[in-house]
Amino acid sequence: MAKQEDQFKKVVSHAKEYGYVFQSSEIYDGLSAVYDYAQNGVELKKNIREYWWKSMVQMNDNIVGLDAAIFMHPTTWKASGHVDAFNDPLIDNKDSKKRYRADVLIEDYVGKLDAKIEKEVAKAQKRFGDSFDKTQFIATNPRVLGYQEKGAAILKRMGQSLEAENLADVKALIEELEIACPLSGSKNWTDVKQFNLMFGTKLGASADSAMDLYLRPETAQGIFVNFLNVQKTGRMKIPFGIAQTGKAFRNEIVARQFIFRMREFEQMEMQFFVRPGTQKEWYEQWKETRLKWHLSLGLGADNYRFHDHDKLAHYADAAADIEFKFPFGFKELEGIHSRTDFDLKAHETHSGKKIQYFDPELGESYVPYVVETSVGLDRLFLAVFSKALVEEALENGTTRTVLKLPAVLAPTKAAIFPLVKKDGLPEVAKKIVEELKFDFNVLYDEKDAVGKRYRRQDAAGTPFCITVDHQTLTDETVTIRHRDTMEQQRLPIASLRNLIHDEVSLAKWLEKTK
Ligand code: ATP
Repeated sequence: MAKQEDQFKKVVSHAKEYGYVFQSSEIYDGLSAVYDYAQNGVELKKNIREYWWKSMVQMNDNIVGLDAAIFMHPTTWKASGHVDAFNDPLIDNKDSKKRYRADVLIEDYVGKLDAKIEKEVAKAQKRFGDSFDKTQFIATNPRVLGYQEKGAAILKRMGQSLEAENLADVKALIEELEIACPLSGSKNWTDVKQFNLMFGTKLGASADSAMDLYLRPETAQGIFVNFLNVQKTGRMKIPFGIAQTGKAFRNEIVARQFIFRMREFEQMEMQFFVRPGTQKEWYEQWKETRLKWHLSLGLGADNYRFHDHDKLAHYADAAADIEFKFPFGFKELEGIHSRTDFDLKAHETHSGKKIQYFDPELGESYVPYVVETSVGLDRLFLAVFSKALVEEALENGTTRTVLKLPAVLAPTKAAIFPLVKKDGLPEVAKKIVEELKFDFNVLYDEKDAVGKRYRRQDAAGTPFCITVDHQTLTDETVTIRHRDTMEQQRLPIASLRNLIHDEVSLAKWLEKTK
Protein backbone atom coordinates (compact mmCIF):
# COMPACT_ATOMS: atom_id res chain seq x y z
CA MET A 1 0.00 0.00 0.00
CA ALA A 2 2.79 2.39 0.97
CA LYS A 3 4.49 1.64 -2.34
CA GLN A 4 1.28 2.43 -4.21
CA GLU A 5 0.92 5.73 -2.36
CA ASP A 6 4.54 6.65 -3.12
CA GLN A 7 4.00 5.91 -6.78
CA PHE A 8 0.86 8.05 -6.80
CA LYS A 9 2.66 10.96 -5.12
CA LYS A 10 5.36 10.69 -7.78
CA VAL A 11 2.74 10.82 -10.51
CA VAL A 12 1.18 13.99 -9.06
CA SER A 13 4.48 15.80 -8.55
CA HIS A 14 5.85 14.73 -11.94
CA ALA A 15 2.68 15.99 -13.63
CA LYS A 16 3.32 19.40 -12.11
CA GLU A 17 7.08 19.53 -12.56
CA TYR A 18 6.93 18.66 -16.25
CA GLY A 19 4.05 20.96 -17.16
CA TYR A 20 1.23 18.43 -17.42
CA VAL A 21 -1.29 19.25 -14.69
CA PHE A 22 -1.55 22.18 -12.26
CA GLN A 23 -3.93 22.70 -9.38
CA SER A 24 -6.56 25.25 -10.42
CA SER A 25 -6.06 28.77 -8.99
CA GLU A 26 -2.94 27.62 -7.19
CA ILE A 27 -1.90 31.15 -6.21
CA TYR A 28 -5.09 31.32 -4.11
CA ASP A 29 -4.27 27.94 -2.51
CA GLY A 30 -6.20 26.05 -5.16
CA LEU A 31 -9.77 24.97 -5.71
CA SER A 32 -10.53 21.49 -4.51
CA ALA A 33 -10.87 18.83 -7.23
CA VAL A 34 -10.42 21.31 -10.08
CA TYR A 35 -7.30 21.14 -12.23
CA ASP A 36 -5.70 22.93 -15.17
CA TYR A 37 -3.88 21.20 -18.00
CA ALA A 38 -0.52 22.79 -18.62
CA GLN A 39 1.58 23.15 -21.76
CA ASN A 40 2.33 19.43 -22.11
CA GLY A 41 -0.89 18.20 -20.51
CA VAL A 42 -3.05 20.03 -23.00
CA GLU A 43 -1.23 18.30 -25.88
CA LEU A 44 -1.48 14.84 -24.32
CA LYS A 45 -5.16 15.39 -23.60
CA LYS A 46 -5.80 16.64 -27.14
CA ASN A 47 -4.01 13.62 -28.61
CA ILE A 48 -6.02 11.16 -26.50
CA ARG A 49 -9.23 12.94 -27.50
CA GLU A 50 -8.26 12.85 -31.15
CA TYR A 51 -7.43 9.14 -31.00
CA TRP A 52 -10.84 8.43 -29.46
CA TRP A 53 -12.64 10.73 -31.91
CA LYS A 54 -11.05 9.20 -34.98
CA SER A 55 -11.64 5.66 -33.70
CA MET A 56 -15.29 6.45 -33.20
CA VAL A 57 -16.27 8.94 -35.89
CA GLN A 58 -13.75 8.57 -38.70
CA MET A 59 -13.44 4.78 -38.55
CA ASN A 60 -17.18 4.04 -38.34
CA ASP A 61 -19.33 5.14 -41.23
CA ASN A 62 -22.44 4.88 -39.05
CA ILE A 63 -21.17 7.14 -36.24
CA VAL A 64 -21.23 10.93 -36.50
CA GLY A 65 -20.13 13.68 -34.12
CA LEU A 66 -21.87 16.44 -32.22
CA ASP A 67 -20.89 19.36 -30.01
CA ALA A 68 -23.91 20.32 -27.92
CA ALA A 69 -23.92 23.28 -25.54
CA ILE A 70 -23.16 22.82 -21.86
CA PHE A 71 -26.29 24.75 -20.92
CA MET A 72 -29.52 22.95 -21.70
CA HIS A 73 -33.17 23.66 -21.08
CA PRO A 74 -33.77 22.75 -17.42
CA THR A 75 -36.57 20.32 -18.29
CA THR A 76 -33.87 18.14 -19.87
CA TRP A 77 -32.65 17.22 -16.40
CA LYS A 78 -36.14 16.59 -15.08
CA ALA A 79 -36.73 14.21 -18.00
CA SER A 80 -33.40 12.45 -17.66
CA GLY A 81 -34.05 11.76 -13.98
CA HIS A 82 -31.07 13.79 -12.80
CA VAL A 83 -33.14 16.23 -10.75
CA ASP A 84 -34.75 13.41 -8.78
CA ALA A 85 -32.20 10.64 -8.85
CA PHE A 86 -28.67 11.88 -9.54
CA ASN A 87 -27.61 11.38 -5.97
CA ASP A 88 -24.71 9.89 -4.12
CA PRO A 89 -25.15 8.39 -0.66
CA LEU A 90 -23.06 10.38 1.77
CA ILE A 91 -22.03 9.67 5.33
CA ASP A 92 -20.15 11.84 7.84
CA ASN A 93 -17.71 10.74 10.46
CA LYS A 94 -18.74 12.50 13.67
CA ASP A 95 -15.21 12.67 15.04
CA SER A 96 -13.19 13.80 12.05
CA LYS A 97 -16.18 15.74 10.58
CA LYS A 98 -15.08 14.29 7.25
CA ARG A 99 -17.67 13.49 4.60
CA TYR A 100 -17.49 10.28 2.55
CA ARG A 101 -19.43 8.51 -0.12
CA ALA A 102 -20.91 5.50 1.64
CA ASP A 103 -20.61 3.31 -1.47
CA VAL A 104 -16.96 4.29 -1.93
CA LEU A 105 -16.13 3.37 1.68
CA ILE A 106 -17.63 -0.07 1.04
CA GLU A 107 -15.95 -0.43 -2.35
CA ASP A 108 -12.60 0.49 -0.80
CA TYR A 109 -13.15 -2.26 1.79
CA VAL A 110 -13.71 -4.73 -1.07
CA GLY A 111 -10.62 -3.28 -2.79
CA LYS A 112 -8.61 -4.36 0.25
CA LEU A 113 -9.90 -7.90 -0.19
CA ASP A 114 -8.71 -7.71 -3.81
CA ALA A 115 -5.30 -6.60 -2.56
CA LYS A 116 -5.22 -9.65 -0.25
CA ILE A 117 -5.97 -11.89 -3.24
CA GLU A 118 -3.11 -10.31 -5.14
CA LYS A 119 -0.81 -10.94 -2.19
CA GLU A 120 -1.80 -14.64 -2.09
CA VAL A 121 -1.13 -14.88 -5.84
CA ALA A 122 2.27 -13.21 -5.49
CA LYS A 123 3.20 -15.55 -2.60
CA ALA A 124 2.16 -18.65 -4.54
CA GLN A 125 3.98 -17.42 -7.64
CA LYS A 126 7.15 -17.19 -5.62
CA ARG A 127 6.64 -20.65 -4.14
CA PHE A 128 5.82 -22.48 -7.40
CA GLY A 129 8.02 -20.52 -9.79
CA ASP A 130 7.66 -21.25 -13.51
CA SER A 131 5.11 -24.03 -13.02
CA PHE A 132 2.63 -21.57 -11.46
CA ASP A 133 -0.78 -21.46 -13.12
CA LYS A 134 -2.39 -18.20 -11.98
CA THR A 135 -5.86 -18.89 -13.42
CA GLN A 136 -6.07 -22.30 -11.76
CA PHE A 137 -4.76 -20.94 -8.47
CA ILE A 138 -7.39 -18.19 -8.40
CA ALA A 139 -10.13 -20.66 -9.29
CA THR A 140 -9.21 -23.23 -6.62
CA ASN A 141 -7.33 -21.71 -3.69
CA PRO A 142 -9.73 -21.74 -0.69
CA ARG A 143 -8.43 -18.48 0.78
CA VAL A 144 -8.72 -16.63 -2.55
CA LEU A 145 -12.20 -18.06 -3.10
CA GLY A 146 -13.18 -16.93 0.38
CA TYR A 147 -12.08 -13.34 -0.29
CA GLN A 148 -13.82 -13.36 -3.66
CA GLU A 149 -17.09 -14.65 -2.23
CA LYS A 150 -17.00 -12.16 0.61
CA GLY A 151 -16.33 -9.25 -1.77
CA ALA A 152 -19.09 -10.30 -4.16
CA ALA A 153 -21.62 -10.72 -1.32
CA ILE A 154 -20.81 -7.26 0.06
CA LEU A 155 -21.17 -5.57 -3.32
CA LYS A 156 -24.40 -7.43 -4.03
CA ARG A 157 -25.94 -6.37 -0.73
CA MET A 158 -24.82 -2.78 -1.22
CA GLY A 159 -26.23 -2.75 -4.75
CA GLN A 160 -29.58 -4.09 -3.62
CA SER A 161 -29.83 -1.66 -0.70
CA LEU A 162 -28.98 1.35 -2.88
CA GLU A 163 -31.43 0.21 -5.53
CA ALA A 164 -34.18 -0.09 -2.90
CA GLU A 165 -33.13 3.27 -1.35
CA ASN A 166 -32.57 1.35 1.88
CA LEU A 167 -29.95 3.75 3.26
CA ALA A 168 -30.27 2.33 6.78
CA ASP A 169 -28.93 -0.97 5.49
CA VAL A 170 -26.01 0.77 3.76
CA LYS A 171 -25.09 2.23 7.15
CA ALA A 172 -25.63 -1.18 8.82
CA LEU A 173 -23.23 -2.71 6.28
CA ILE A 174 -20.56 -0.11 7.08
CA GLU A 175 -20.98 -0.89 10.77
CA GLU A 176 -20.96 -4.67 10.31
CA LEU A 177 -17.77 -4.49 8.26
CA GLU A 178 -16.33 -2.27 11.02
CA ILE A 179 -15.19 0.30 8.47
CA ALA A 180 -13.34 3.12 10.21
CA CYS A 181 -12.80 6.70 9.04
CA PRO A 182 -9.43 6.65 7.22
CA LEU A 183 -8.58 9.96 8.90
CA SER A 184 -9.59 9.52 12.55
CA GLY A 185 -9.85 5.73 12.76
CA SER A 186 -13.25 6.24 14.39
CA LYS A 187 -16.39 4.21 13.62
CA ASN A 188 -18.72 6.92 14.84
CA TRP A 189 -20.89 7.49 11.74
CA THR A 190 -23.96 9.60 10.98
CA ASP A 191 -26.89 8.16 9.02
CA VAL A 192 -26.49 7.84 5.25
CA LYS A 193 -28.17 10.65 3.26
CA GLN A 194 -28.67 11.30 -0.44
CA PHE A 195 -26.92 14.29 -2.02
CA ASN A 196 -27.67 15.68 -5.52
CA LEU A 197 -24.52 16.16 -7.58
CA MET A 198 -25.69 18.79 -10.06
CA PHE A 199 -24.37 22.36 -9.96
CA GLY A 200 -27.09 24.97 -10.36
CA THR A 201 -26.77 28.40 -11.92
CA LYS A 202 -29.04 31.11 -13.32
CA LEU A 203 -29.71 32.38 -16.83
CA GLY A 204 -30.90 35.97 -17.27
CA ALA A 205 -30.17 39.38 -15.83
CA SER A 206 -33.08 40.14 -13.53
CA ALA A 207 -33.68 38.19 -10.37
CA ASP A 208 -37.44 37.75 -11.11
CA SER A 209 -37.16 36.42 -14.62
CA ALA A 210 -33.95 34.43 -14.22
CA MET A 211 -34.23 30.79 -15.15
CA ASP A 212 -32.67 28.08 -13.01
CA LEU A 213 -30.16 26.11 -15.01
CA TYR A 214 -27.80 23.24 -14.34
CA LEU A 215 -24.30 22.70 -15.57
CA ARG A 216 -24.62 19.40 -17.42
CA PRO A 217 -23.53 16.41 -15.32
CA GLU A 218 -23.06 14.26 -18.45
CA THR A 219 -22.75 14.99 -22.15
CA ALA A 220 -25.23 12.28 -23.15
CA GLN A 221 -28.41 14.36 -22.89
CA GLY A 222 -27.15 16.78 -25.57
CA ILE A 223 -27.10 13.77 -27.88
CA PHE A 224 -30.57 12.52 -26.93
CA VAL A 225 -32.32 15.85 -27.45
CA ASN A 226 -30.65 16.11 -30.87
CA PHE A 227 -31.46 12.54 -31.90
CA LEU A 228 -34.05 13.46 -34.51
CA ASN A 229 -32.10 16.48 -35.81
CA VAL A 230 -29.06 14.33 -36.51
CA GLN A 231 -31.01 11.34 -37.78
CA LYS A 232 -33.00 13.42 -40.25
CA THR A 233 -30.31 15.84 -41.48
CA GLY A 234 -27.69 13.08 -41.67
CA ARG A 235 -30.19 10.58 -43.16
CA MET A 236 -28.93 8.10 -40.59
CA LYS A 237 -30.24 4.53 -40.57
CA ILE A 238 -30.44 2.48 -37.41
CA PRO A 239 -28.11 1.16 -36.06
CA PHE A 240 -26.10 4.37 -35.84
CA GLY A 241 -24.22 6.35 -33.23
CA ILE A 242 -23.61 9.95 -32.17
CA ALA A 243 -20.30 10.76 -30.48
CA GLN A 244 -19.44 13.78 -28.40
CA THR A 245 -16.61 15.00 -26.21
CA GLY A 246 -17.02 17.82 -23.73
CA LYS A 247 -17.06 19.14 -20.21
CA ALA A 248 -19.33 17.75 -17.51
CA PHE A 249 -19.76 18.97 -13.93
CA ARG A 250 -20.51 17.12 -10.73
CA ASN A 251 -20.42 18.38 -7.18
CA GLU A 252 -18.53 15.28 -6.02
CA ILE A 253 -18.63 14.62 -2.30
CA VAL A 254 -15.31 12.88 -2.14
CA ALA A 255 -12.97 14.68 -4.42
CA ARG A 256 -9.60 13.14 -3.84
CA GLN A 257 -7.25 11.19 -6.06
CA PHE A 258 -6.09 14.00 -8.30
CA ILE A 259 -7.70 14.08 -11.76
CA PHE A 260 -9.47 10.76 -11.16
CA ARG A 261 -12.44 12.45 -9.54
CA MET A 262 -12.93 16.09 -10.45
CA ARG A 263 -15.78 18.54 -10.11
CA GLU A 264 -15.24 19.75 -13.69
CA PHE A 265 -14.10 17.04 -16.07
CA GLU A 266 -14.35 15.92 -19.66
CA GLN A 267 -16.28 12.99 -21.04
CA MET A 268 -16.05 11.21 -24.36
CA GLU A 269 -19.39 9.57 -24.97
CA MET A 270 -21.04 7.71 -27.80
CA GLN A 271 -24.72 6.83 -27.87
CA PHE A 272 -25.53 3.99 -30.25
CA PHE A 273 -29.16 3.76 -31.34
CA VAL A 274 -30.44 0.26 -32.08
CA ARG A 275 -33.63 -1.68 -32.76
CA PRO A 276 -35.50 -2.65 -29.57
CA GLY A 277 -34.61 -6.23 -28.66
CA THR A 278 -31.10 -6.08 -30.15
CA GLN A 279 -29.58 -4.03 -27.33
CA LYS A 280 -27.97 -6.98 -25.51
CA GLU A 281 -25.98 -8.01 -28.60
CA TRP A 282 -24.82 -4.46 -29.21
CA TYR A 283 -23.97 -4.06 -25.55
CA GLU A 284 -21.70 -7.14 -25.68
CA GLN A 285 -20.17 -5.96 -28.92
CA TRP A 286 -19.38 -2.48 -27.60
CA LYS A 287 -17.87 -3.95 -24.43
CA GLU A 288 -15.48 -5.95 -26.57
CA THR A 289 -14.71 -3.10 -28.99
CA ARG A 290 -13.96 -0.65 -26.22
CA LEU A 291 -11.69 -3.03 -24.33
CA LYS A 292 -9.77 -3.66 -27.54
CA TRP A 293 -9.39 0.09 -28.00
CA HIS A 294 -7.92 0.47 -24.53
CA LEU A 295 -5.57 -2.47 -25.10
CA SER A 296 -4.27 -0.80 -28.27
CA LEU A 297 -2.62 1.83 -26.05
CA GLY A 298 -0.20 -0.87 -24.91
CA LEU A 299 -0.49 -0.20 -21.18
CA GLY A 300 -0.70 -3.95 -20.42
CA ALA A 301 -3.68 -6.30 -20.55
CA ASP A 302 -3.33 -7.16 -16.84
CA ASN A 303 -4.27 -3.58 -15.97
CA TYR A 304 -7.84 -3.90 -17.24
CA ARG A 305 -10.86 -5.82 -16.06
CA PHE A 306 -14.63 -5.70 -16.44
CA HIS A 307 -16.91 -5.06 -13.52
CA ASP A 308 -20.55 -5.89 -14.20
CA HIS A 309 -22.94 -3.74 -12.20
CA ASP A 310 -25.26 -5.20 -9.56
CA LYS A 311 -26.75 -1.79 -8.92
CA LEU A 312 -28.17 -0.47 -12.18
CA ALA A 313 -28.83 3.23 -12.78
CA HIS A 314 -32.46 4.21 -13.25
CA TYR A 315 -32.11 4.11 -17.04
CA ALA A 316 -30.17 0.88 -17.61
CA ASP A 317 -30.97 -2.80 -18.23
CA ALA A 318 -27.29 -3.82 -18.23
CA ALA A 319 -24.10 -1.99 -17.31
CA ALA A 320 -20.41 -2.72 -16.93
CA ASP A 321 -17.31 -0.74 -16.17
CA ILE A 322 -13.95 -1.19 -17.74
CA GLU A 323 -11.74 -0.84 -14.69
CA PHE A 324 -8.11 0.15 -14.81
CA LYS A 325 -5.36 -0.51 -12.30
CA PHE A 326 -4.62 3.07 -11.20
CA PRO A 327 -1.84 3.72 -8.67
CA PHE A 328 -4.55 3.42 -5.98
CA GLY A 329 -6.04 0.15 -7.27
CA PHE A 330 -8.61 -1.00 -9.82
CA LYS A 331 -11.19 1.75 -10.47
CA GLU A 332 -13.71 2.67 -13.17
CA LEU A 333 -12.25 4.08 -16.35
CA GLU A 334 -15.18 3.68 -18.74
CA GLY A 335 -18.83 2.79 -18.41
CA ILE A 336 -20.75 0.79 -21.00
CA HIS A 337 -24.47 1.04 -20.43
CA SER A 338 -27.49 -0.41 -22.12
CA ARG A 339 -29.77 2.59 -21.51
CA THR A 340 -32.92 1.07 -23.03
CA ASP A 341 -35.38 3.59 -24.52
CA PHE A 342 -35.53 5.45 -21.20
CA ASP A 343 -34.03 8.76 -22.29
CA LEU A 344 -35.74 9.19 -25.65
CA LYS A 345 -39.11 8.18 -24.17
CA ALA A 346 -38.66 10.59 -21.26
CA HIS A 347 -37.87 13.43 -23.66
CA GLU A 348 -40.97 12.50 -25.71
CA THR A 349 -43.11 12.73 -22.59
CA HIS A 350 -41.62 15.96 -21.28
CA SER A 351 -41.43 17.80 -24.62
CA GLY A 352 -44.69 16.51 -26.04
CA LYS A 353 -42.84 15.85 -29.32
CA LYS A 354 -42.69 12.50 -31.03
CA ILE A 355 -39.14 11.11 -30.99
CA GLN A 356 -39.36 8.00 -33.10
CA TYR A 357 -37.59 6.36 -35.96
CA PHE A 358 -39.34 4.86 -38.99
CA ASP A 359 -37.56 1.62 -39.77
CA PRO A 360 -37.93 1.06 -43.54
CA GLU A 361 -37.00 -2.63 -43.25
CA LEU A 362 -39.65 -3.35 -40.64
CA GLY A 363 -42.12 -0.84 -42.02
CA GLU A 364 -42.83 0.52 -38.51
CA SER A 365 -41.89 3.33 -36.16
CA TYR A 366 -40.36 2.87 -32.74
CA VAL A 367 -38.35 4.60 -30.04
CA PRO A 368 -34.82 3.23 -30.48
CA TYR A 369 -32.88 1.56 -27.68
CA VAL A 370 -29.48 2.95 -26.76
CA VAL A 371 -26.11 1.47 -25.89
CA GLU A 372 -23.72 4.04 -24.47
CA THR A 373 -19.95 4.04 -24.13
CA SER A 374 -18.74 6.73 -21.75
CA VAL A 375 -15.13 7.30 -20.85
CA GLY A 376 -13.59 10.07 -18.77
CA LEU A 377 -10.85 11.84 -20.70
CA ASP A 378 -9.13 12.90 -17.48
CA ARG A 379 -9.19 9.34 -16.14
CA LEU A 380 -7.75 8.10 -19.40
CA PHE A 381 -5.06 10.75 -19.12
CA LEU A 382 -4.25 9.56 -15.59
CA ALA A 383 -4.19 5.92 -16.72
CA VAL A 384 -1.76 6.65 -19.55
CA PHE A 385 0.39 9.03 -17.52
CA SER A 386 0.67 6.89 -14.41
CA LYS A 387 1.60 3.72 -16.29
CA ALA A 388 4.07 5.60 -18.45
CA LEU A 389 6.03 7.01 -15.53
CA VAL A 390 8.88 4.66 -14.59
CA GLU A 391 12.17 4.81 -12.75
CA GLU A 392 14.69 2.74 -14.63
CA ALA A 393 17.91 1.35 -13.20
CA LEU A 394 20.69 1.75 -15.74
CA GLU A 395 23.72 -0.46 -16.31
CA ASN A 396 26.09 2.23 -15.02
CA GLY A 397 24.38 2.14 -11.62
CA THR A 398 22.39 5.36 -12.04
CA THR A 399 18.64 5.64 -12.51
CA ARG A 400 16.63 7.63 -15.01
CA THR A 401 13.05 8.85 -14.81
CA VAL A 402 11.29 8.22 -18.07
CA LEU A 403 7.75 8.91 -19.19
CA LYS A 404 7.11 6.11 -21.68
CA LEU A 405 4.03 7.65 -23.27
CA PRO A 406 2.80 5.91 -26.42
CA ALA A 407 4.59 7.90 -29.15
CA VAL A 408 1.30 8.67 -30.87
CA LEU A 409 0.09 10.48 -27.73
CA ALA A 410 3.30 12.22 -26.67
CA PRO A 411 3.00 16.05 -26.54
CA THR A 412 6.35 16.67 -28.25
CA LYS A 413 7.43 14.14 -30.85
CA ALA A 414 11.06 15.17 -31.17
CA ALA A 415 13.58 17.50 -29.51
CA ILE A 416 16.39 18.82 -31.67
CA PHE A 417 19.74 19.67 -30.13
CA PRO A 418 22.99 21.15 -31.39
CA LEU A 419 25.78 19.19 -29.67
CA VAL A 420 27.45 22.53 -28.82
CA LYS A 421 26.27 26.14 -29.02
CA LYS A 422 28.78 27.14 -31.69
CA ASP A 423 30.40 26.23 -35.02
CA GLY A 424 27.11 26.71 -36.90
CA LEU A 425 25.45 23.70 -35.21
CA PRO A 426 22.54 25.72 -33.68
CA GLU A 427 21.68 27.08 -37.14
CA VAL A 428 21.45 23.56 -38.62
CA ALA A 429 19.39 22.32 -35.65
CA LYS A 430 16.99 25.27 -35.96
CA LYS A 431 16.60 24.58 -39.67
CA ILE A 432 15.55 20.99 -38.86
CA VAL A 433 13.00 22.37 -36.39
CA GLU A 434 11.66 24.68 -39.10
CA GLU A 435 11.26 21.75 -41.49
CA LEU A 436 9.72 19.25 -39.07
CA LYS A 437 7.28 21.62 -37.39
CA PHE A 438 4.86 21.44 -40.30
CA ASP A 439 4.25 17.78 -39.45
CA PHE A 440 5.00 17.39 -35.76
CA ASN A 441 5.25 19.20 -32.47
CA VAL A 442 9.01 19.59 -32.06
CA LEU A 443 11.25 21.71 -29.85
CA TYR A 444 14.75 23.11 -29.85
CA ASP A 445 17.03 22.91 -26.81
CA GLU A 446 20.66 23.98 -26.51
CA LYS A 447 20.98 24.43 -22.75
CA ASP A 448 23.21 22.11 -20.64
CA ALA A 449 25.25 19.08 -21.64
CA VAL A 450 23.57 16.81 -24.15
CA GLY A 451 23.19 13.97 -21.60
CA LYS A 452 21.22 16.27 -19.35
CA ARG A 453 19.04 17.34 -22.26
CA TYR A 454 18.29 13.68 -23.03
CA ARG A 455 17.18 13.11 -19.43
CA ARG A 456 14.97 16.18 -19.52
CA GLN A 457 13.18 14.89 -22.61
CA ASP A 458 12.97 11.33 -21.18
CA ALA A 459 11.12 12.73 -18.18
CA ALA A 460 8.88 14.89 -20.35
CA GLY A 461 7.94 11.89 -22.51
CA THR A 462 9.49 12.97 -25.85
CA PRO A 463 10.03 9.82 -27.94
CA PHE A 464 12.92 11.12 -30.08
CA CYS A 465 15.96 13.33 -29.56
CA ILE A 466 17.87 14.44 -32.63
CA THR A 467 21.42 15.70 -32.22
CA VAL A 468 23.32 17.80 -34.72
CA ASP A 469 27.12 17.44 -34.43
CA HIS A 470 30.18 18.38 -36.44
CA GLN A 471 29.77 15.42 -38.77
CA THR A 472 26.37 16.84 -39.75
CA LEU A 473 28.15 19.79 -41.36
CA THR A 474 29.96 17.51 -43.75
CA ASP A 475 27.47 14.72 -44.54
CA GLU A 476 24.03 16.02 -43.50
CA THR A 477 23.45 13.17 -41.07
CA VAL A 478 22.33 13.38 -37.44
CA THR A 479 21.92 10.98 -34.53
CA ILE A 480 18.42 10.08 -33.44
CA ARG A 481 18.01 8.66 -29.97
CA HIS A 482 15.00 6.52 -29.05
CA ARG A 483 13.57 7.35 -25.62
CA ASP A 484 12.63 3.85 -24.47
CA THR A 485 15.66 1.87 -25.67
CA MET A 486 18.14 4.79 -25.53
CA GLU A 487 19.52 3.39 -28.79
CA GLN A 488 21.10 5.87 -31.17
CA GLN A 489 21.09 5.70 -34.95
CA ARG A 490 22.93 7.83 -37.45
CA LEU A 491 20.84 8.83 -40.43
CA PRO A 492 20.35 11.50 -43.08
CA ILE A 493 18.37 14.59 -42.13
CA ALA A 494 16.20 13.90 -45.16
CA SER A 495 14.89 10.64 -43.66
CA LEU A 496 13.83 12.09 -40.29
CA ARG A 497 10.30 12.96 -41.30
CA ASN A 498 9.45 9.43 -42.49
CA LEU A 499 11.03 7.74 -39.49
CA ILE A 500 9.15 9.89 -36.99
CA HIS A 501 5.95 9.60 -38.97
CA ASP A 502 6.09 5.78 -38.87
CA GLU A 503 6.22 5.86 -35.08
CA VAL A 504 3.71 8.57 -34.29
CA SER A 505 1.17 7.95 -37.03
CA LEU A 506 -2.37 7.78 -35.74
CA ALA A 507 -3.34 5.74 -38.79
CA LYS A 508 -1.16 2.85 -37.59
CA TRP A 509 -2.75 2.88 -34.16
CA LEU A 510 -6.21 2.97 -35.65
CA GLU A 511 -5.39 -0.15 -37.66
CA LYS A 512 -4.59 -1.95 -34.41
CA THR A 513 -8.12 -1.48 -33.16
CA LYS A 514 -9.72 -2.88 -36.29
P1 ATP B 1 -17.91 6.89 -10.36
O1 ATP B 1 -18.66 5.66 -9.94
O2 ATP B 1 -16.42 6.73 -10.34
O3 ATP B 1 -18.39 8.15 -9.69
P2 ATP B 1 -19.77 7.08 -12.48
O4 ATP B 1 -20.22 5.65 -12.58
O5 ATP B 1 -20.61 8.07 -11.80
O6 ATP B 1 -18.27 7.13 -11.89
P3 ATP B 1 -20.44 7.64 -15.19
O7 ATP B 1 -21.61 8.45 -14.83
O8 ATP B 1 -20.65 6.29 -15.76
O9 ATP B 1 -19.44 7.58 -13.94
O10 ATP B 1 -19.53 8.52 -16.15
C1 ATP B 1 -18.81 7.98 -17.24
C2 ATP B 1 -17.33 8.22 -17.10
O11 ATP B 1 -17.05 9.59 -16.80
C3 ATP B 1 -16.68 7.44 -15.96
O12 ATP B 1 -16.35 6.14 -16.37
C4 ATP B 1 -15.45 8.27 -15.68
O13 ATP B 1 -14.38 7.91 -16.54
C5 ATP B 1 -15.89 9.68 -15.99
N1 ATP B 1 -16.19 10.41 -14.76
C6 ATP B 1 -17.33 10.37 -14.03
N2 ATP B 1 -17.24 11.19 -12.97
C7 ATP B 1 -16.02 11.76 -13.03
C8 ATP B 1 -15.33 12.72 -12.23
N3 ATP B 1 -15.90 13.25 -11.16
N4 ATP B 1 -14.06 13.09 -12.58
C9 ATP B 1 -13.48 12.56 -13.66
N5 ATP B 1 -14.08 11.66 -14.47
C10 ATP B 1 -15.33 11.26 -14.16
